[in-house]
Amino acid sequence: MKKHNFSAGPSILPQEVLKQAANAILNFNNLNLSLIEISHRSTDFVAVMDKARALVLELLELENKGYSVLFLQGGASLEFLMTPYNLMKQNGKAAYFDTGAWSGKALKEAKLLGDVNVVASSKDKNYNYIPKVYDIPSDVDYVHCTSNNTIYGTQFKSFPKTDALLVCDMSSDIFSRKLDFSQFDLIYAGAQKNMGPAGTTLVIVKDDILGKTGRQIPAMLDYQVHISKDSMFNTPPVFPIYVSMLTLQWLKDMGGIEAIEKKNIAKAKLLYNEIDNNPLFEGAAAKEDRSNMNVTFLLTNESKKERFDKMWKEAGISGINGHRSVGGYRASIYNAMPIESIQILVDIMHKL
Ligand SMILES: *Cc1c(COP(=O)(O)O)cnc(C)c1O
Repeated sequence: MKKHNFSAGPSILPQEVLKQAANAILNFNNLNLSLIEISHRSTDFVAVMDKARALVLELLELENKGYSVLFLQGGASLEFLMTPYNLMKQNGKAAYFDTGAWSGKALKEAKLLGDVNVVASSKDKNYNYIPKVYDIPSDVDYVHCTSNNTIYGTQFKSFPKTDALLVCDMSSDIFSRKLDFSQFDLIYAGAQKNMGPAGTTLVIVKDDILGKTGRQIPAMLDYQVHISKDSMFNTPPVFPIYVSMLTLQWLKDMGGIEAIEKKNIAKAKLLYNEIDNNPLFEGAAAKEDRSNMNVTFLLTNESKKERFDKMWKEAGISGINGHRSVGGYRASIYNAMPIESIQILVDIMHKL
């Protein structure tokens, strides 16, 4: 029997997507060739890339608003560097929100290229909340935030209002909730949390913000180069892009972001209700900032740990051990996670 996969990433994908992906490895589009042994410039693969791009814009309601969609490599981690390379002026300055391990890594890369102003940090409380009081200097080239803090289980519910460009790392909550995505000038997300397998990074960027830094940018790090080549400046990661396309099609078929958001809210509510009502558990993140994707929680009575761990393992649950920097447990309940799997976890917590 398939396990209940609560892994933080790489993470759960819809079962029907996995089946289609498996078929395409053996025989793609009835070509009697594998998806991974044909040219990325073949008509069949170019159609996959075009469809993936179109689905991204459609699902995020960003069609005809001046955005380009890229499927790159190097993970969200390379975007930590590409973003300042493409947006930070020579001797420029950027504002960063320090809300967890990933935002810390992002601002560290930006420091290689210019001045980084940390406008707010939740480090004082081990990143268990989203700072709400901050002052963004008027002369920054861009503002960077991390919409969902995968490790700590916090999530921005609203985003900074700024005249500067707004950049967001949405690796772990993209396509999970309705937002006005046009408030962002650049969004990036590694595929492996909510969209597909590891190996490709989605970048959505407003065309008219590029080419303004006066910097020489190495070709592989230059968004304009990738845009001009339709994400095929070099050989793209065909399999992760294909599976991402299938997942986006799955999402569209079920009603898009509005439909999945309803399910995600119900799923998170089920689990947080148990955490709040069961004296044996406590949530790790501040209530108003809780993530609907990564639910972090702790046992209040460590003597129950052995019994709890045994119970969830026996129920076929996998991937809920907490990250070492928070401890306890983390249930990642991304788009593809069915509510039935969460009910099984909740039943165990209840019985403990
Ligand atoms: C996982 C994660 C990353 C790192 O992604 P890679 O693709 O491994 O580089 C960055 N930001 C956030 C918010 C993440 O959850």
